[in-house]
This record gives sequence, structure tokens and C-alpha cells, in this order.
Amino acid sequence: MELFSRRSFLVKLGKGTAAVAVLGPMTVACGSDTGGADDTAVASPSTTSTPPTSAVGSTSTAVVGSSTTSGSASVGSGGSRWERVAMTNVSAYILVRDSKAVIVDTGHAGLIEDIDAGLQRVGVGWGDVGDVILTHMHGDHIGGLPAVMDRATAATAHAGEPDIEAMRSPRPISVVADGDEVFGLDIIGTPGHTPGHVCVLDRSAGILVAGDALIGSDGGISGPNPRFSSDMNEANASVVKLAGLDYSTILVGHGDPVTSNGSTLVAELSATL
Ligand SMILES: [Zn+2]
Repeated sequence: MELFSRRSFLVKLGKGTAAVAVLGPMTVACGSDTGGADDTAVASPSTTSTPPTSAVGSTSTAVVGSSTTSGSASVGSGGSRWERVAMTNVSAYILVRDSKAVIVDTGHAGLIEDIDAGLQRVGVGWGDVGDVILTHMHGDHIGGLPAVMDRATAATAHAGEPDIEAMRSPRPISVVADGDEVFGLDIIGTPGHTPGHVCVLDRSAGILVAGDALIGSDGGISGPNPRFSSDMNEANASVVKLAGLDYSTILVGHGDPVTSNGSTLVAELSATL
């Protein structure tokens, strides 16, 4: 298991700056052979370390690309911020723009308070969450969906159609497909890890939220783990597709984010497939 200490860092992105706060211990599971039988297993909170409730600006903060330890910054003309919510072995992400929030993936069931804390860190409440995007149907990404939708009463959930049947939600889940837009974010169809897997591209900020289409690996990136992927030919084709897009930062479901040269790293990976 790989453990990452809490930290936050800033990523320089063109005109603006994005902040990604990284909270709590994090282990790699879905893309790692250390992750157990499958990536849908839900780790018991009682057997894992509890993520700290506050990290931004702490003495353990590591800052990349900026001399400030502030976790708050803006990206692009609209002024947006991406927040990482690290939960045991998986991460969810929150985008805040103009006091409205989008949550990408919901983590394991039972860890709703981690997402609640993430919303508080970026200064919004559950009523400000307009959209919830699920990258795919694995339990470590959608386990928290019922609780999230119960609290985010104004939110619409979105996912790729082939994966929706496996998702539990108190309200219908909206189908998204390659080329769709949610809250100004591009949906990238990336099947293979699961049939309905999607990634989310924030073009203005140069940030790709990769779900499990890519795995963070020692500061770099690797493709999905064959053990947990339904169709590796499709998964590899999706990596090639992602290599053709333009972004610098990659926010992954498992592992540390890539903070620079993202699309270049994915292009190098795709050349090896
Ligand atoms: Zn997965």
C-alpha cells in the first residue's frame, strides 16, 4: 500500500491558478495489485486512518509551482477551483465555480462526511451542488452516491449509459456520452475499464479528471489495471484517445494527481500500448 501524507499544492495554469488540496492518507487500490480482489470492495473506515479535517495551510503543506500555501485560487476567466477529497483508497473531486459546485465521483459508501468537509473547504454547501458526475460504476466511486444525492437535493447525477444500471441513486441518473457538456465541462467517453466509463475535461483550466481510465503511479501515469478492467483493448484505445487531448493536470481516482505535462505523459504511455 502506498501512503501519501496530507498536502496541498497549487498548479499554475495559463492566466490563472488552480488549487488542489490533498487530504489524508491515501492508498492505491483500483490500479494496484495491492488492492485486493476487486476495486469495488469497500474499505471499512474503522480499519483505516481517518483523514484529517483540515489541511490547507497546515505546516505539512507541500506547494508545487507557487510560493503560497493557500489552498484557494482561481483558474481561467470564470474563476474555478478543483478540490480533491481523498478517501481511504480513492479520491473524489469537487469543482467550484461562481459558488456552484460539481462533484466528480462519490467514493465509498459511508464516507459522506469527507465530501462534506471538502465542500466546506471550498466554501459551498450541499445546496450549491448542481451536478454529480460518476466516472464509472465501481463501488469505490459510486458507493457514496445515495447519500450525496440525499444531501444535494438540487443536484442531477450523470453517468455513461452502460454503467447506470449498476448504480444506486434516489433520483434518476442522466445519461451522458462523449461530446456532452456538464457545467461547461467536456464529457470524454473512455470505455474499457468499464463499458460506460467517462472522463471529465476542464478545457479552460487544462485539467482532466480521469476516473480509472488512468492510474497515478509514482508521480507519473499508467493505464488501467487489467485485473479490474472489463475490456483492455477498449481501455487502451481510451488511453490513446486521452493522449490526443490537451491538459496539464490529471486528477486520478487512485494515486496522486499529475500536476504538469499531463497530456505529454499520456501520449508517452499510449505509445507503449
Ligand atoms: Zn474502477
